[in-house]
Amino acid sequence: MTKQTTLAEIGEFGLIERITKQSTKTHKTTEYGIGDDCAVLKYTDTQYTLISTDLLVEGIHFDLVYTPIKHLGYKAVICNISDIYAMNGTPQQITVSIAVSAKFSVEAIEQLYEGIHTACKAYNIDLIGGDTTSSITGLTISITAIGIVAESDISYRKTARVNDLICVTGNLGAAYMGLQILQREKSIFKEVGAQPKLEGYEYVLQRQLKPESPKHIIEQLKKNGIVPTAMIDISDGLSSELFHICKQSHVGCNIYEEKIPIHENTADVCKEFSIEPLIPALHGGDDYELLFTIPITCFDSISTIQGVTVIGNITEADKGLYLILKAGDKVALKAQGWTSFTQ
Ligand code: ADP
Ligand code: MG
Repeated sequence: MTKQTTLAEIGEFGLIERITKQSTKTHKTTEYGIGDDCAVLKYTDTQYTLISTDLLVEGIHFDLVYTPIKHLGYKAVICNISDIYAMNGTPQQITVSIAVSAKFSVEAIEQLYEGIHTACKAYNIDLIGGDTTSSITGLTISITAIGIVAESDISYRKTARVNDLICVTGNLGAAYMGLQILQREKSIFKEVGAQPKLEGYEYVLQRQLKPESPKHIIEQLKKNGIVPTAMIDISDGLSSELFHICKQSHVGCNIYEEKIPIHENTADVCKEFSIEPLIPALHGGDDYELLFTIPITCFDSISTIQGVTVIGNITEADKGLYLILKAGDKVALKAQGWTSFTQ
């Protein structure tokens, strides 16, 4: 009998590689398939169509004990359109498919869709279809987002160049610390039945439960004539996303601890949990900020855009991926972001 491989042995990315290696590109309209935030389709001369799909499973991606179902609908849309922004594109449509078990009331599913519609309004998206089916195990949501980008504006993961500046939007680690609060309060509730204490944690909770996409930054970049040489959204943690850009672009990088943007409320919650703020900033997931690289000549221009921080620079591949600590020490970056099958 041939050896049966466990999923944990090869991990999420190993599995994707293994099951997709036979896929071919037979159509001229398939500009780029597997390997980036979106697939890229070419139907016209000057514009690409972008498509991205994601699956959210109850018990794996969300816990309805502490997630208001309306927020879940909102967040599900954000997770998907984030991949369109990550190609420097504009999301325009989504389809939403759900599998629902009998434990959900009609009103609960209506609430889920309240959140979906609210996000669609906020980001100017049309909900154009989907599918509905039953489930034995709970709620599963699959969203496909469709967007557009001018051919001259597209940002892949594979095109960062040596000496480019590395930038991030917003701040990092907040969503992860929000999750820590929610999980702590859930376990206290389970153990002693105490009502959750969520006051004072509004910022990190909002980042976890109702994240936003940095759409305004994409607009600002356009206004300033900056096309990122590479871009990815930060869904699995800064470190892991830097690995994707560097691996696919065949480059290395240096990032600087002192430059990594961390919100003061995130730092406060870290203190409470005795966690070094750098850890969630590097490895926490769910922030849905953007990580991108730009030519060094864009430094003055990028400095005028509020909400963007330059955190380092791209180096040659053989230099590796490094974090330079405040004290000056250089430590090799590790990709410890979220991966399926190992937790
Ligand atoms: P993201 O984190 O942006 O959702 P993933 O890491 O899930 O991206 O996926 C990486 C690439 O692999 C993407 O191009 C995605 O479309 C593709 N992919 C993921 N799972 C599958 C699958 N089961 N079959 C085919 N392609 C897949
Ligand atoms: Mg995915």
